[in-house]
This record gives sequence, structure tokens and C-alpha cells, in this order.
Amino acid sequence: MKEDKEIKTQNKTKIRIWTSTLLQKGSVITLSEDQSHYLCNVMRLKNGMEILCFNARDGEYLTQIIKISKKETQIRVLEQTRAATQTPDIWLMFSPIKKDRMDFLIEKAVELGIKKLVPVITQYGITDKLRSERIILQMVEASQQSERLDVPELKIPQKLEAILDNWDQSRILFFMDERRDGKSCAQVFNENHSEKVAILVGPEGGFSEQEAKLLYSKPFVIPVSLGPRILRAETAVVASLSIWQAVSGDWKSKEEL
Ligand code: SAH
Repeated sequence: MKEDKEIKTQNKTKIRIWTSTLLQKGSVITLSEDQSHYLCNVMRLKNGMEILCFNARDGEYLTQIIKISKKETQIRVLEQTRAATQTPDIWLMFSPIKKDRMDFLIEKAVELGIKKLVPVITQYGITDKLRSERIILQMVEASQQSERLDVPELKIPQKLEAILDNWDQSRILFFMDERRDGKSCAQVFNENHSEKVAILVGPEGGFSEQEAKLLYSKPFVIPVSLGPRILRAETAVVASLSIWQAVSGDWKSKEEL
């Protein structure tokens, strides 16, 4: 046990890099130019140093740098440090908000364990074009920092109506509704444990009456209240995901599992 703990502590300080390349003991893989720049110029790593590489399919591996420059880095894959694991199937559906607040929203949603990030086009949402490349990079960084083994998937932005029309009815959609008297968050999550869920948070302007009516008309939608105060969208994301993880997700201690 002590040995494991020691390895865990040592690995805690190691840089973590996500790569979609197959991670197999003994193989040599080449990281991207951006990753090489980060490791070589920013983190000033040298040949022989160790980093952790991970992805959802293979888990996490200790690797050693065998060649490094700002353009190219080659690493040799050593032993596996963490096996791939299943994570809760929780999606965050959000209506885009102003850039700096959205950066915060995305980073927190990744730390709070979402599996998919679903941008929803709503009547009062920001209509600026979503910069998917940038969002994916933000999610990779937050996954590396939060020691996740996977990076959430970013869905293509769609209108709320279209998403609801094609909805997989076996997935509960928790509608964060600031205007009506939905049941409290903890109560709803406690009463509706499910393998597949989604949380929907509206934009600064909230949902239109029409959108609220449409949502209430769907059997898979459960309205939820986050209390008497109006939270900013990014606050509602953090609050609802935190409560869900605590009540129904993977925020359980080893004893509770
Ligand atoms: N300006 C809007 C509020 C939007 S808040 C208005 O006054 O109507 C942004 C989003 O956060 C909301 O659409 C909702 O999804 C969520 N939210 C904020 N406060 C909430 C609360 N008390 N209960 C449930 N959801 C809330």
C-alpha cells in the first residue's frame, strides 16, 4: 500500500499530457508540435525526464522523454499508472454566454466531470460563432489539470427545439429553471438516480416563455430549482453539477462505493 501511495505522490507532480495515440508499454510515440513547444519551451523538460500520458481508452501511463525539441517530442511508454475507468454519463447543455464567463463555465464543467458539452442555441443566447477548436483545447487543459482520464466530447451547437426533437428518451434532462417553482436540486437528484442524465442551463437572458413551455411538455424533462436567488449561468453550472456529483455521481468515498 505504502509503495502505491509513494508512486501516487511522485506522479502527482508529473505533467499530464492527453494523447489519442495508442498507449502501449514499450512503444515510442511522437507528441504534437504544440505539446512539444509546451514541454520544451514552457516547462523546460529534458531528455530522460518523465511525464504521464493518458486517454479514455488506454488509461494513464508513465512515459519517458527520449527526444525533445520545440518542434518534436518523442516519448517511450513505460508502465500503466491508472487503468481506464467508466465515468458518470452526465452531459452539460448550455446556452453560450460572454467569452470570459464562458471560459470559466467550460473549465469548471470539465473539473466537475461532464462527459459531453452540448452548446444549445436559444432565443436569448449569445449568437457569436462558437470557437470549437479553442473550447476543445480548454477542455484538454482542464482534463490534464484535474487528473481526468478522458476529455469531454464537444457536440455541434444546435437549436433547443432540434435537440429535444431527437432526444434519447432514456436520458433524463434536468432543466435548471430559475422562474418557476421546480423542486429543489438535491431532492430531484435524490429522487431520480439514473445512468444517463443531462443538465440544461440557460443564458444570461434566461429561457423564453415558449422555450420553457416546450421543455415542460417533454416527459423526459424534470424542472429543478437552485433556490430563491438568480444565479449567473456559470454559477448555476457549478452548483447543479456539484450537487449532482455529490448526490448521484462519483463524488463518493471508497467506503460509500
Ligand atoms: N436573467 C435571467 C436569469 C438567467 S440565469 C432571468 O432573470 O430570467 C442563467 C441560467 O442559470 C438560467 O436560465 C437557469 O438555467 C440557471 N439559473 C439561475 N438561477 C437559477 C435558480 N435559482 N434556479 C434554477 N436555475 C437557475
